[in-house]
Amino acid sequence: MGLSLLGATGSIGRQTLDVAERLGLPVCALAAGTNAEAMEDAVRRFRPRLAVLWDEKAAGSLRTALADTETKVLSGMEGLLEAASLPEADTVLAAMSGAVGLKPALRAIEAGKKLALANKETLVCAGELVTAAAKARGVPLLPVDSEHSAIFQCLQGAGEVKRILLTASGGPFRSLDAAALEKVKKEDALRHPNWRMGPKITVDSATLMNKGLEFIEAMWLFGLRPEQITVLVHPQSVVHSAVEFADGAVIAQLGTPDMRLPIQLALTWPERKPCPAPALDLTKTPPLTFEEPDLVRFPCLKLAMDCAGRRGTADCAVMNAANEEAVRAFLEGRTGFTEIYRLVARTLEALSGLPGRSLEEIVAADEAARRYTRSCL
Ligand code: NDP
Ligand code: MG
Repeated sequence: MGLSLLGATGSIGRQTLDVAERLGLPVCALAAGTNAEAMEDAVRRFRPRLAVLWDEKAAGSLRTALADTETKVLSGMEGLLEAASLPEADTVLAAMSGAVGLKPALRAIEAGKKLALANKETLVCAGELVTAAAKARGVPLLPVDSEHSAIFQCLQGAGEVKRILLTASGGPFRSLDAAALEKVKKEDALRHPNWRMGPKITVDSATLMNKGLEFIEAMWLFGLRPEQITVLVHPQSVVHSAVEFADGAVIAQLGTPDMRLPIQLALTWPERKPCPAPALDLTKTPPLTFEEPDLVRFPCLKLAMDCAGRRGTADCAVMNAANEEAVRAFLEGRTGFTEIYRLVARTLEALSGLPGRSLEEIVAADEAARRYTRSCL
């Protein structure tokens, strides 16, 4: 029994490979976007049966480079779907960034795989579809996102939930005023105070869109109404999230900010194994503080919270696609930091209310939103 890892060359992907190596987990498939060099290294280290690169040209170079190995190389969505449903994999860990993860996640569920989800965009776009499919097929959805892993842990063996407390670091611009936010540069946005992550999620953390995506992710993963989710800014990132129960008791999960713990837990659950993440020493942590998020300076969070409750529509998928396009443009120097919100809001204004129950409807809304956002740039 083995692991199929989608997004193997990224921040979560590389940490997952280290965890898999320590656990002695066999890796049977690896997939990524374009990075043939990193993929070749990973293939030589883990000898999977299948390696996939989204980009066809990159897959061609990889095939040549791996000619002396037994690893089959595929490309595109077809390759990702095969990696998601490989017979010898019992677990698929989805760690690619963006909505491209949706179809492979659904394929993994159909094939009866345990699905460890780092790729939150999948649940943002199609939370209802994905959670219903997992329930129908009887496969577990194991959260890798640190907050959701925390909530998942707090919920074990517990009673009726009143609400969850979803913590947020607040990002690098927590104390900047509105005028200063207008002048933020890419380099500043890519400097997260507590976590080293891929560029897209790092920018999302700076706009607080990441917390908005996580709000929607939590709603679907734990079957909650939007009113049951409270976002709390907690700059020290020690309390990874908490759950308040019907009797008022609050259970929280604490730890050092290290993704190897939630990654490993998703792979070993229901067992716990020793993990190399540094231990938490509460006598050495700075004072833990909590405050309400500022939805005026960080309107992306408000936008996502508003979209969360609009079931049956594709609003969450539209918002996510617009955000992916806007963040890409920001990272490529084609738009400003505060423009990200404006682009997403404009796209939502134009395309709000599209139907979003079926996969076809969600994919169509995602594509329409991308076209619209690009046309605004
Ligand atoms: P990175 O940007 O570091 O990595 C993204 C990965 O996805 C790379 O392996 C990339 O391949 C691959 N990829 C991109 N496009 C495609 C595609 N079309 N087909 C297949 N693979 C593709 O991102 P992160 O690791 O930081 O984040 C991954 C996901 O996990 C995101 O959804 C993020 O929100 C979530 N997450 C991340 C956390 C973190 O600490 N990093 C924490 C919690 C959640 P290539 O290198 O070839 O481009
Ligand atoms: Mg998170």
